Amino acid sequence: MAQATDLHGQSVVSNPYDGFDRMPLNGQWRGGRSGRASEDRNPYSDDILVRIPLANEQDLNEAYQAAAGAQPQWAATLPGERAAILRRAADIMEARKEEIVSWLVKEAGSTRLKANVEWDSARAITLEAASAPYRVQGRILPSDIPGKENRVYRQPVGVVGVISPWNFPMHLSNRSLAPALAVGNAVVIKPASDTPVTGGLLLAKIFEEAGLPPGVLSVVVGPGSLIGDAFVLHPVPRVLSFTGSTPVGRHIAELAAKSPMLKKVALELGGNSPFIILDDADLDLAVNAAVFGKFLHQGQICMITNRLIVDGKIYDQFVERFSARVRTLKVGDPNSADTAIGPIINKSQFEGLMKHIENARSAGARQTAGGNPKGLLLPPHVFADVTPQMQIAQDEMFGPVVSVIKVTGEEEAIRVANDTEYGLSSAVFSGDVERGVRVALQVKAGMTHVNDQPVNDLPNCPFGGEKNSGLGRFGGDWIIEEFTTDHWVSVQHQPRQYPF
Ligand code: NAD
Repeated sequence: MAQATDLHGQSVVSNPYDGFDRMPLNGQWRGGRSGRASEDRNPYSDDILVRIPLANEQDLNEAYQAAAGAQPQWAATLPGERAAILRRAADIMEARKEEIVSWLVKEAGSTRLKANVEWDSARAITLEAASAPYRVQGRILPSDIPGKENRVYRQPVGVVGVISPWNFPMHLSNRSLAPALAVGNAVVIKPASDTPVTGGLLLAKIFEEAGLPPGVLSVVVGPGSLIGDAFVLHPVPRVLSFTGSTPVGRHIAELAAKSPMLKKVALELGGNSPFIILDDADLDLAVNAAVFGKFLHQGQICMITNRLIVDGKIYDQFVERFSARVRTLKVGDPNSADTAIGPIINKSQFEGLMKHIENARSAGARQTAGGNPKGLLLPPHVFADVTPQMQIAQDEMFGPVVSVIKVTGEEEAIRVANDTEYGLSSAVFSGDVERGVRVALQVKAGMTHVNDQPVNDLPNCPFGGEKNSGLGRFGGDWIIEEFTTDHWVSVQHQPRQYPF
């Protein structure tokens, strides 16, 4: 049995996890009882990685009941004990780095670069969450009533339901899971059907090995169509933390309002990031940033650049240099170190992208990079001379397809950038940083980066969107706020004089 040493000099077992044909429900690893099974496939090779008997509503109910039962005791553990489990989970992620990266490559079609980025984010957020148990703060508020003390206790919400997408499955499940656990909640995760292992089961193994008590975390593997609505409608979860598309997010918000027990919904939804390049921008910087900020993970990222909005004075030069760089990107096996573009996650996403490509061509956009697909490998496509109303500019392009739009001056750039229902991330390139910041503040988005591309995510930042990109902020103190609630307890220290 191979062993490694963690950051504290303790040995960590590093034999690979197995048993991913079962899910942790109420502290037991077992198959779901729906009578249906899913085939978890490698999107590059089409190999079956694991067959999983799917959960039904009974399994889901068991998971939520177990969470409700285990949560009070978990909340009562000392902050230091919760922090130690999170630190240990981070150590396990470190010790099992290659195992985790390899699952992200084979299950999510991540290139090795993206898998490493995701591993790093997941580990960093676990470490950030390890400080969260100590950052929950109550208050004492002044009172106008003599002898009254107003205490405000900040308590865990109870049970958090986490629904995550397939694109950054481990990170996006964990960015809710780790802080929710840290502040004393129990959690049930429903990972996406394409990524049951990296979106949930792998995390459950890690936290189990780290010493998380049974029942505090359950994972239900089942498609949204089978258990999605029940997951939201169930009376136990107090907060639903959803990351995914805007239409499903809307549906979840509507369902949550209809649940027999009202609940808060935190929504991280779709994007259509503008990348503004002003006339004084450094073109080399902008081209490099745009290539990475569009094509990381084949463009399947909520923050990814969708529209390159370029000032007319530098437009032709930019299109030429950007397209030339894009044509050099290597498309192929995501497990090869030099591959930039791996497979699209599944056939239906692939077909949606092909429709958008056809649509852009027939709308008159000028294609300056592209190529024929092979299996689920789609070479990067660049469309220049796109107008803001074309569908390719209006829709979220969750793949390696990008629009370049010509504008005249700063004002038009801002107007075009904001001409979308989304407002997640964005970028502004300018030779003058303060001009960049002035423009950034006029972009309606939760996040704008000056002289950097829009794909940025840090554990201590207020990650989140405006407009149809979502509600709430994930990260740092903002996520502690999402997963805790105020309880006002007033204490009357001396007899109070009532009017009657
Ligand atoms: P999706 O909305 O189709 O699915 C997300 C999750 O919702 C999956 O687990 C799915 O099974 C589940 N689901 C589907 N129907 C459901 C229902 N009725 N009830 C409960 N759950 C249900 O999204 P996707 O295709 O997995 O991911 C891509 C989308 O996610 C893109 O729009 C992308 O922008 C967005 N996304 C947003 C962020 C962010 O932080 N803002 C991050 C990553 C991805």
